[in-house]
Amino acid sequence: MIKENLFSVEQNILAACKRAGRKREEVTLIAVSKTKPVSMIQEVLEEGILDFGENKVQELTAKFEVLPNNLRWHLIGHLQTNKVKYIVDKAVFIHSVDSYKLAEQINKEAAKKGIISNILIEVNIAREETKYGVFAEETYPLIQEIAKLNNIRVRGLMTIAPFVDNPEKNREHFRNLRQLNIDIKMKNIDNVSMDVLSMGMTGDYEIAIEEGATMIRVGTGIFGERDYSI
Ligand SMILES: *Cc1c(COP(=O)(O)O)cnc(C)c1O
Repeated sequence: MIKENLFSVEQNILAACKRAGRKREEVTLIAVSKTKPVSMIQEVLEEGILDFGENKVQELTAKFEVLPNNLRWHLIGHLQTNKVKYIVDKAVFIHSVDSYKLAEQINKEAAKKGIISNILIEVNIAREETKYGVFAEETYPLIQEIAKLNNIRVRGLMTIAPFVDNPEKNREHFRNLRQLNIDIKMKNIDNVSMDVLSMGMTGDYEIAIEEGATMIRVGTGIFGERDYSI
C-alpha cells in the first residue's frame, strides 16, 4: 500500500510543481512517520525517501537508533526546553521554534556539540487559539533576537494550516506565510537565510506547493490513517 500511496503523492507533487512553474527539486517531501513502526519507515526508505518527520522527541530518538544514519530526521512537533539535548544532534531541522527561550536552549546544546542547528520559526499564520507558534507580527522581532545566537541558523518558516474541508481555504494562509518569509529575507540578517518554507500536509500540500512550499510534511497520504488508540 505504501508504495502505491507514495506513487500518487509523487504524481500530485509533480503536477502541482508543473502548475506553479516550479522544479520538482525545489520541494522536499518529508514522510511524517509518527506513530508508525520502523518496518513501515523501511518500506518508504526503499522507495528512495530519506526525509522523515516526527513530532515527539522520544519517538524520533528511538527510531534514530535503529535506522540507517543517512536518514534526515525533522522534528516537527512542539519541543520542550528540557528535551532539546536529546534531539539537537539528531534532527537536521527543528521546525517548531516559537520562543527565544527555546532557541537559546537549542543554541546552548548545539554549542556543546560543536554544531550549527538549522531551525524554522513556527508561525500561527491563521491565528488559531489552539495552535502553537508565533503570530505573523511577532516573527521578525523574534528572528532578530535569535539571529544573535551563534550556533543557530534560521532557515525559514513553518506553519500548520487550519484543518479544513476544502484545501483552497488555506491558500491565503500559505500565501501570507510566503510573503512574510520574503519580507524577512529582504532584511538580510546575519545567520538568517530564509530559504525554507515548511507548509502543506496530506490535505493541502498541493496548494502549499503552488504557493511556494519548499518542504511538505505528509503523513496520512503515505502511511495511511494513524491509530492513537493502541
Ligand atoms: C502529523 C503532522 C503532519 C502530517 O499530517 P498528515 O495530515 O497526516 O499528513 C504534518 N505536520 C505536523 C506538524 C504534524 O504534526
